[in-house]
Amino acid sequence: MNIHEYQAKQLLAKFGVPVSRGIACTSTDEVGKAFATLAEPLAVVKVQIHAGGRGKAGGVKLVRSADEAKQVAAGLLGKTIVTHQTGPEGRVVKTLYVEAGSDIEREMYLAVVMDRSAQAPVVIAAAEGGMDIEELAAHKPEAIARHRVHPVKGLQAFQARALCKHLGLSGEQAKAGARLLGGLVKAFMELDCSLAEINPMIVTKQGEVKALDAKMSFDDNALFRHQDVAELRDLNEEDPKEVEAKKFDLNYIALHGNIGCMVNGAGLAMATMDVIQLKGGAPANFLDVGGGANKQQVTNAFKILLSDKNVKGILVNIFGGIMKCDTIAEGVIAAAKETRLNVPLVVRLEGTNVELGRKLLQDSGLNLHTATSLDEAAEKIVAAIR
Ligand code: GDP
Ligand code: MN
Repeated sequence: MNIHEYQAKQLLAKFGVPVSRGIACTSTDEVGKAFATLAEPLAVVKVQIHAGGRGKAGGVKLVRSADEAKQVAAGLLGKTIVTHQTGPEGRVVKTLYVEAGSDIEREMYLAVVMDRSAQAPVVIAAAEGGMDIEELAAHKPEAIARHRVHPVKGLQAFQARALCKHLGLSGEQAKAGARLLGGLVKAFMELDCSLAEINPMIVTKQGEVKALDAKMSFDDNALFRHQDVAELRDLNEEDPKEVEAKKFDLNYIALHGNIGCMVNGAGLAMATMDVIQLKGGAPANFLDVGGGANKQQVTNAFKILLSDKNVKGILVNIFGGIMKCDTIAEGVIAAAKETRLNVPLVVRLEGTNVELGRKLLQDSGLNLHTATSLDEAAEKIVAAIR
Protein backbone atom coordinates (compact mmCIF):
# COMPACT_ATOMS: atom_id res chain seq x y z
CA MET A 1 0.00 0.00 0.00
CA ASN A 2 1.17 3.50 -0.83
CA ILE A 3 0.37 6.73 0.96
CA HIS A 4 0.59 10.40 0.05
CA GLU A 5 3.60 12.61 0.61
CA TYR A 6 1.88 14.64 3.34
CA GLN A 7 0.90 11.47 5.18
CA ALA A 8 4.41 10.07 4.91
CA LYS A 9 5.82 13.33 6.26
CA GLN A 10 3.43 13.24 9.22
CA LEU A 11 4.52 9.68 10.01
CA LEU A 12 8.22 10.40 9.55
CA ALA A 13 8.04 13.52 11.71
CA LYS A 14 6.97 11.27 14.61
CA PHE A 15 10.23 9.39 14.14
CA GLY A 16 12.28 12.56 14.28
CA VAL A 17 12.72 13.17 10.57
CA PRO A 18 12.72 16.95 10.05
CA VAL A 19 10.12 18.17 7.56
CA SER A 20 8.64 21.57 6.74
CA ARG A 21 5.32 22.67 8.21
CA GLY A 22 2.46 22.02 5.85
CA ILE A 23 -1.31 21.76 5.51
CA ALA A 24 -3.27 19.33 3.31
CA CYS A 25 -6.14 21.02 1.43
CA THR A 26 -8.98 19.94 -0.81
CA SER A 27 -10.29 23.35 -1.99
CA THR A 28 -8.83 26.60 -3.31
CA ASP A 29 -10.14 28.48 -0.27
CA GLU A 30 -8.35 26.09 2.04
CA VAL A 31 -5.17 26.62 0.06
CA GLY A 32 -5.47 30.41 0.44
CA LYS A 33 -6.03 30.02 4.18
CA ALA A 34 -3.16 27.57 4.46
CA PHE A 35 -0.80 30.10 2.90
CA ALA A 36 -1.92 32.69 5.46
CA THR A 37 -1.59 30.22 8.34
CA LEU A 38 1.94 29.23 7.36
CA ALA A 39 2.80 32.95 7.25
CA GLU A 40 5.95 32.46 5.20
CA PRO A 41 7.09 34.62 2.30
CA LEU A 42 7.36 31.50 0.15
CA ALA A 43 5.17 28.37 0.08
CA VAL A 44 4.98 25.33 -2.17
CA VAL A 45 1.74 23.91 -3.51
CA LYS A 46 2.15 20.21 -4.27
CA VAL A 47 -0.35 17.82 -5.84
CA GLN A 48 -0.92 14.72 -3.73
CA ILE A 49 -1.04 11.70 -6.01
CA HIS A 50 0.55 8.29 -5.58
CA ALA A 51 3.22 8.96 -8.18
CA GLY A 52 6.54 10.72 -8.42
CA GLY A 53 7.74 13.07 -11.11
CA ARG A 54 5.20 15.71 -10.09
CA GLY A 55 7.72 18.53 -10.31
CA LYS A 56 8.45 17.95 -13.99
CA ALA A 57 4.73 17.52 -14.71
CA GLY A 58 3.82 20.93 -13.22
CA GLY A 59 2.45 19.51 -9.99
CA VAL A 60 4.83 21.38 -7.66
CA LYS A 61 4.52 25.17 -7.68
CA LEU A 62 6.21 27.89 -5.65
CA VAL A 63 3.85 30.68 -4.55
CA ARG A 64 4.43 34.01 -2.81
CA SER A 65 0.96 35.19 -1.82
CA ALA A 66 -2.40 33.76 -0.77
CA ASP A 67 -3.90 34.95 -4.05
CA GLU A 68 -1.20 33.29 -6.08
CA ALA A 69 -1.64 30.12 -4.01
CA LYS A 70 -5.38 30.11 -4.76
CA GLN A 71 -4.75 30.71 -8.44
CA VAL A 72 -2.29 27.83 -8.63
CA ALA A 73 -4.72 25.62 -6.68
CA ALA A 74 -7.55 26.39 -9.10
CA GLY A 75 -5.29 25.27 -11.93
CA LEU A 76 -4.50 21.96 -10.23
CA LEU A 77 -7.53 20.72 -8.26
CA GLY A 78 -9.70 18.37 -10.28
CA LYS A 79 -7.18 18.31 -13.11
CA THR A 80 -5.44 15.21 -14.40
CA ILE A 81 -1.69 15.10 -13.90
CA VAL A 82 0.39 12.83 -16.08
CA THR A 83 3.87 12.00 -14.83
CA HIS A 84 6.29 9.30 -15.97
CA GLN A 85 4.94 7.15 -13.11
CA THR A 86 1.17 7.57 -13.62
CA GLY A 87 0.79 5.90 -17.01
CA PRO A 88 -0.85 7.77 -19.89
CA GLU A 89 -4.21 8.04 -18.10
CA GLY A 90 -2.71 10.17 -15.33
CA ARG A 91 -4.25 10.88 -11.92
CA VAL A 92 -6.96 13.30 -10.92
CA VAL A 93 -5.79 15.76 -8.26
CA LYS A 94 -8.06 15.79 -5.21
CA THR A 95 -5.67 17.00 -2.53
CA LEU A 96 -2.97 19.67 -2.45
CA TYR A 97 -0.28 20.00 0.16
CA VAL A 98 0.72 23.54 1.00
CA GLU A 99 4.12 23.61 2.61
CA ALA A 100 6.41 26.31 3.97
CA GLY A 101 8.95 26.97 1.21
CA SER A 102 12.60 26.05 1.62
CA ASP A 103 15.72 27.80 0.32
CA ILE A 104 17.50 24.87 -1.23
CA GLU A 105 21.28 24.80 -1.10
CA ARG A 106 21.70 21.20 -2.21
CA GLU A 107 19.53 18.17 -3.03
CA MET A 108 20.45 14.58 -2.11
CA TYR A 109 18.87 11.16 -2.47
CA LEU A 110 18.06 8.86 0.43
CA ALA A 111 15.98 5.69 0.61
CA VAL A 112 15.48 2.51 2.57
CA VAL A 113 14.27 -0.53 0.66
CA MET A 114 13.84 -4.18 1.53
CA ASP A 115 16.58 -6.13 -0.19
CA ARG A 116 15.30 -9.69 -0.40
CA SER A 117 18.61 -11.21 -1.43
CA ALA A 118 20.32 -9.52 1.54
CA GLN A 119 17.30 -10.43 3.71
CA ALA A 120 17.54 -7.00 5.31
CA PRO A 121 16.63 -3.38 4.74
CA VAL A 122 19.24 -1.49 2.76
CA VAL A 123 19.91 2.24 2.94
CA ILE A 124 20.67 3.83 -0.42
CA ALA A 125 22.19 7.30 -0.54
CA ALA A 126 23.51 9.62 -3.21
CA ALA A 127 24.88 13.12 -2.89
CA GLU A 128 23.32 13.96 -6.23
CA GLY A 129 19.59 14.30 -5.71
CA GLY A 130 16.96 15.67 -7.99
CA MET A 131 18.19 13.46 -10.84
CA ASP A 132 16.38 10.16 -11.35
CA ILE A 133 18.06 7.58 -9.17
CA GLU A 134 17.54 4.94 -11.89
CA GLU A 135 19.58 7.07 -14.27
CA LEU A 136 22.31 7.58 -11.70
CA ALA A 137 22.40 3.84 -11.00
CA ALA A 138 22.79 3.14 -14.71
CA HIS A 139 25.42 5.76 -15.53
CA LYS A 140 27.28 6.40 -12.32
CA PRO A 141 26.74 3.49 -9.94
CA GLU A 142 29.73 4.47 -7.79
CA ALA A 143 27.81 7.60 -6.76
CA ILE A 144 25.35 5.44 -4.86
CA ALA A 145 26.24 4.19 -1.38
CA ARG A 146 24.49 1.11 0.01
CA HIS A 147 24.45 0.00 3.62
CA ARG A 148 22.70 -3.11 4.83
CA VAL A 149 20.77 -2.60 8.06
CA HIS A 150 21.06 -5.22 10.78
CA PRO A 151 17.51 -6.54 11.28
CA VAL A 152 17.81 -6.45 15.07
CA LYS A 153 20.42 -3.80 15.86
CA GLY A 154 19.15 -1.35 13.29
CA LEU A 155 21.37 1.23 11.64
CA GLN A 156 24.72 1.47 13.46
CA ALA A 157 26.33 4.79 14.30
CA PHE A 158 29.33 4.03 12.07
CA GLN A 159 27.02 3.35 9.15
CA ALA A 160 25.19 6.62 9.67
CA ARG A 161 28.54 8.45 9.78
CA ALA A 162 29.71 6.76 6.57
CA LEU A 163 26.45 7.57 4.84
CA CYS A 164 26.60 11.21 5.90
CA LYS A 165 30.16 11.43 4.66
CA HIS A 166 29.08 10.00 1.33
CA LEU A 167 26.32 12.63 1.22
CA GLY A 168 28.92 15.35 1.75
CA LEU A 169 27.61 16.34 5.17
CA SER A 170 29.98 17.42 7.94
CA GLY A 171 29.87 19.02 11.39
CA GLU A 172 26.39 19.91 12.62
CA GLN A 173 24.88 18.91 9.29
CA ALA A 174 26.34 15.42 9.62
CA LYS A 175 24.78 15.13 13.09
CA ALA A 176 21.43 16.27 11.73
CA GLY A 177 21.81 13.89 8.80
CA ALA A 178 22.53 10.98 11.14
CA ARG A 179 19.40 11.80 13.18
CA LEU A 180 17.32 11.94 10.01
CA LEU A 181 18.78 8.62 8.85
CA GLY A 182 18.12 7.01 12.21
CA GLY A 183 14.52 8.19 12.15
CA LEU A 184 13.96 7.01 8.59
CA VAL A 185 15.35 3.54 9.25
CA LYS A 186 13.40 3.21 12.50
CA ALA A 187 10.17 4.23 10.75
CA PHE A 188 10.89 1.77 7.95
CA MET A 189 11.40 -1.12 10.35
CA GLU A 190 8.69 -0.36 12.89
CA LEU A 191 6.02 0.31 10.28
CA ASP A 192 6.86 -2.69 8.06
CA CYS A 193 7.65 -0.60 5.02
CA SER A 194 8.78 -1.96 1.71
CA LEU A 195 10.09 1.47 0.71
CA ALA A 196 10.78 4.76 2.47
CA GLU A 197 12.27 7.29 0.08
CA ILE A 198 13.32 10.89 0.56
CA ASN A 199 14.04 12.47 -2.80
CA PRO A 200 15.23 15.04 -2.33
CA MET A 201 16.69 15.28 1.12
CA ILE A 202 18.03 18.84 1.26
CA VAL A 203 20.44 21.16 2.96
CA THR A 204 18.91 24.64 3.10
CA LYS A 205 20.79 27.92 2.71
CA GLN A 206 20.33 28.25 6.49
CA GLY A 207 22.15 24.92 6.99
CA GLU A 208 19.15 22.80 7.98
CA VAL A 209 18.95 19.19 6.82
CA LYS A 210 15.45 17.96 6.00
CA ALA A 211 13.14 15.81 3.93
CA LEU A 212 11.66 17.85 1.10
CA ASP A 213 9.73 14.94 -0.38
CA ALA A 214 8.69 11.60 1.11
CA LYS A 215 7.37 8.39 -0.30
CA MET A 216 6.41 5.35 1.76
CA SER A 217 5.10 1.96 0.69
CA PHE A 218 3.95 -0.67 3.14
CA ASP A 219 3.90 -4.44 3.07
CA ASP A 220 0.20 -5.29 2.67
CA ASN A 221 0.71 -8.52 4.60
CA ALA A 222 1.80 -6.58 7.70
CA LEU A 223 -0.87 -3.88 7.57
CA PHE A 224 -2.98 -5.68 10.15
CA ARG A 225 -0.30 -4.70 12.67
CA HIS A 226 -0.64 -1.00 11.84
CA GLN A 227 -4.26 0.09 11.96
CA ASP A 228 -3.20 3.75 11.93
CA VAL A 229 -1.26 3.22 8.71
CA ALA A 230 -4.02 1.13 7.11
CA GLU A 231 -6.39 4.05 7.69
CA LEU A 232 -4.24 6.24 5.45
CA ARG A 233 -5.26 4.20 2.42
CA ASP A 234 -6.71 6.42 -0.32
CA LEU A 235 -9.09 4.45 -2.51
CA ASN A 236 -9.14 7.36 -4.99
CA GLU A 237 -5.63 6.37 -5.93
CA GLU A 238 -6.45 2.76 -6.64
CA ASP A 239 -8.12 1.16 -9.64
CA PRO A 240 -11.80 0.65 -8.65
CA LYS A 241 -11.66 -2.85 -10.12
CA GLU A 242 -8.69 -3.67 -7.91
CA VAL A 243 -10.50 -2.28 -4.87
CA GLU A 244 -13.55 -4.43 -5.68
CA ALA A 245 -11.36 -7.51 -6.18
CA LYS A 246 -9.73 -7.09 -2.78
CA LYS A 247 -13.16 -7.25 -1.12
CA PHE A 248 -13.56 -10.79 -2.45
CA ASP A 249 -10.01 -11.93 -1.76
CA LEU A 250 -9.13 -11.98 -5.44
CA ASN A 251 -5.64 -11.05 -6.57
CA TYR A 252 -6.42 -8.72 -9.44
CA ILE A 253 -4.20 -6.27 -11.26
CA ALA A 254 -5.58 -4.24 -14.18
CA LEU A 255 -3.49 -4.15 -17.36
CA HIS A 256 -3.91 -2.49 -20.73
CA GLY A 257 -4.88 -5.35 -23.08
CA ASN A 258 -8.33 -6.66 -24.08
CA ILE A 259 -8.40 -10.32 -23.03
CA GLY A 260 -9.78 -10.81 -19.54
CA CYS A 261 -8.09 -13.70 -17.74
CA MET A 262 -9.48 -15.76 -14.91
CA VAL A 263 -6.94 -18.19 -13.52
CA ASN A 264 -6.27 -19.96 -10.24
CA GLY A 265 -2.77 -19.65 -8.86
CA ALA A 266 -0.36 -16.79 -9.43
CA GLY A 267 2.12 -18.90 -11.39
CA LEU A 268 -0.54 -20.23 -13.73
CA ALA A 269 -1.93 -16.70 -14.13
CA MET A 270 1.48 -15.42 -15.20
CA ALA A 271 2.00 -18.34 -17.57
CA THR A 272 -1.43 -17.67 -19.06
CA MET A 273 -0.60 -14.02 -19.65
CA ASP A 274 2.66 -15.05 -21.31
CA VAL A 275 0.98 -17.51 -23.64
CA ILE A 276 -1.73 -14.99 -24.60
CA GLN A 277 1.03 -12.56 -25.50
CA LEU A 278 2.87 -15.27 -27.41
CA LYS A 279 -0.24 -15.91 -29.50
CA GLY A 280 -0.48 -12.25 -30.43
CA GLY A 281 -3.03 -11.16 -27.82
CA ALA A 282 -2.79 -8.79 -24.86
CA PRO A 283 -4.09 -9.59 -21.37
CA ALA A 284 -6.46 -7.05 -19.81
CA ASN A 285 -5.53 -8.15 -16.33
CA PHE A 286 -3.80 -10.51 -14.00
CA LEU A 287 -6.35 -12.38 -11.95
CA ASP A 288 -5.68 -15.15 -9.50
CA VAL A 289 -8.93 -16.39 -7.98
CA GLY A 290 -6.98 -18.50 -5.50
CA GLY A 291 -6.51 -22.21 -5.10
CA GLY A 292 -9.84 -22.80 -3.43
CA ALA A 293 -12.05 -20.42 -5.37
CA ASN A 294 -15.77 -20.98 -4.87
CA LYS A 295 -18.75 -20.27 -7.10
CA GLN A 296 -19.29 -16.88 -5.49
CA GLN A 297 -15.69 -15.84 -6.12
CA VAL A 298 -15.85 -16.99 -9.72
CA THR A 299 -19.01 -14.91 -10.22
CA ASN A 300 -17.47 -11.84 -8.62
CA ALA A 301 -14.33 -12.29 -10.69
CA PHE A 302 -16.44 -12.40 -13.86
CA LYS A 303 -18.25 -9.22 -12.88
CA ILE A 304 -14.96 -7.42 -12.31
CA LEU A 305 -13.58 -8.62 -15.65
CA LEU A 306 -16.70 -7.47 -17.47
CA SER A 307 -16.72 -4.07 -15.79
CA ASP A 308 -13.54 -3.34 -17.77
CA LYS A 309 -14.70 -1.79 -21.03
CA ASN A 310 -11.51 -2.88 -22.77
CA VAL A 311 -12.34 -6.56 -22.29
CA LYS A 312 -13.34 -8.08 -25.64
CA GLY A 313 -13.05 -11.71 -24.63
CA ILE A 314 -12.43 -13.89 -21.58
CA LEU A 315 -10.09 -16.79 -21.08
CA VAL A 316 -10.70 -19.03 -18.09
CA ASN A 317 -7.77 -21.27 -17.28
CA ILE A 318 -8.35 -23.27 -14.14
CA PHE A 319 -6.54 -26.20 -12.69
CA GLY A 320 -8.83 -28.26 -10.50
CA GLY A 321 -6.58 -29.45 -7.74
CA ILE A 322 -8.11 -28.54 -4.41
CA MET A 323 -11.30 -27.69 -6.25
CA LYS A 324 -12.93 -30.11 -8.61
CA CYS A 325 -13.44 -29.21 -12.26
CA ASP A 326 -17.19 -29.80 -12.12
CA THR A 327 -17.52 -27.29 -9.28
CA ILE A 328 -15.54 -24.77 -11.31
CA ALA A 329 -17.67 -25.43 -14.40
CA GLU A 330 -20.80 -24.81 -12.35
CA GLY A 331 -19.32 -21.54 -11.13
CA VAL A 332 -18.38 -20.44 -14.65
CA ILE A 333 -21.81 -21.32 -16.01
CA ALA A 334 -23.62 -19.52 -13.19
CA ALA A 335 -21.39 -16.48 -13.55
CA ALA A 336 -21.78 -16.35 -17.32
CA LYS A 337 -25.56 -16.51 -16.99
CA GLU A 338 -25.76 -14.03 -14.14
CA THR A 339 -23.55 -11.48 -15.86
CA ARG A 340 -25.28 -12.01 -19.23
CA LEU A 341 -21.92 -12.60 -20.80
CA ASN A 342 -21.76 -11.01 -24.25
CA VAL A 343 -18.13 -11.47 -25.22
CA PRO A 344 -16.42 -14.66 -26.42
CA LEU A 345 -15.47 -17.05 -23.63
CA VAL A 346 -12.86 -19.78 -23.81
CA VAL A 347 -12.60 -22.21 -20.92
CA ARG A 348 -9.73 -24.55 -20.31
CA LEU A 349 -10.12 -26.93 -17.40
CA GLU A 350 -7.68 -29.52 -16.21
CA GLY A 351 -7.51 -31.70 -13.14
CA THR A 352 -9.89 -33.64 -10.92
CA ASN A 353 -13.27 -34.51 -12.51
CA VAL A 354 -12.23 -32.78 -15.72
CA GLU A 355 -14.50 -34.94 -17.93
CA LEU A 356 -17.52 -34.09 -15.85
CA GLY A 357 -16.59 -30.42 -15.87
CA ARG A 358 -16.22 -30.33 -19.65
CA LYS A 359 -19.54 -32.09 -20.11
CA LEU A 360 -21.29 -29.55 -17.89
CA LEU A 361 -19.83 -26.72 -19.99
CA GLN A 362 -20.84 -28.41 -23.26
CA ASP A 363 -24.38 -29.03 -22.05
CA SER A 364 -24.80 -25.56 -20.58
CA GLY A 365 -26.23 -24.04 -23.74
CA LEU A 366 -23.79 -21.17 -23.34
CA ASN A 367 -21.89 -19.88 -26.32
CA LEU A 368 -18.48 -20.84 -25.08
CA HIS A 369 -15.44 -22.59 -26.47
CA THR A 370 -13.57 -25.22 -24.55
CA ALA A 371 -9.91 -26.09 -24.90
CA THR A 372 -7.79 -28.93 -23.61
CA SER A 373 -4.42 -27.17 -23.57
CA LEU A 374 -3.29 -23.69 -22.68
CA ASP A 375 -1.88 -23.21 -26.17
CA GLU A 376 -5.17 -24.08 -27.76
CA ALA A 377 -7.11 -21.90 -25.32
CA ALA A 378 -4.94 -18.87 -26.01
CA GLU A 379 -5.15 -19.39 -29.78
CA LYS A 380 -8.93 -19.69 -29.59
CA ILE A 381 -9.48 -16.53 -27.55
CA VAL A 382 -7.10 -14.49 -29.69
CA ALA A 383 -8.91 -15.71 -32.82
CA ALA A 384 -12.33 -15.11 -31.26
CA ILE A 385 -11.78 -11.42 -30.60
CA ARG A 386 -10.32 -10.71 -34.03
P1 GDP B 1 8.40 15.01 -7.26
O1 GDP B 1 8.77 15.72 -8.53
O2 GDP B 1 7.07 14.34 -7.37
O3 GDP B 1 9.45 14.07 -6.82
O4 GDP B 1 8.22 16.14 -6.14
P2 GDP B 1 9.27 16.77 -5.09
O5 GDP B 1 8.59 16.95 -3.81
O6 GDP B 1 10.53 16.00 -5.08
O7 GDP B 1 9.56 18.21 -5.70
C1 GDP B 1 10.15 18.37 -6.96
C2 GDP B 1 11.11 19.52 -6.94
O8 GDP B 1 10.45 20.73 -6.60
C3 GDP B 1 12.22 19.40 -5.90
O9 GDP B 1 13.28 18.59 -6.35
C4 GDP B 1 12.63 20.84 -5.72
O10 GDP B 1 13.58 21.20 -6.69
C5 GDP B 1 11.34 21.61 -5.97
N1 GDP B 1 10.80 22.04 -4.65
C6 GDP B 1 9.98 21.36 -3.83
N2 GDP B 1 9.79 22.03 -2.67
C7 GDP B 1 10.50 23.16 -2.76
C8 GDP B 1 10.76 24.26 -1.88
O11 GDP B 1 10.26 24.34 -0.75
N3 GDP B 1 11.57 25.26 -2.33
C9 GDP B 1 12.15 25.21 -3.57
N4 GDP B 1 12.94 26.20 -3.93
N5 GDP B 1 11.96 24.18 -4.42
C10 GDP B 1 11.16 23.17 -4.03
MN1 MN C 1 10.65 13.82 -5.24
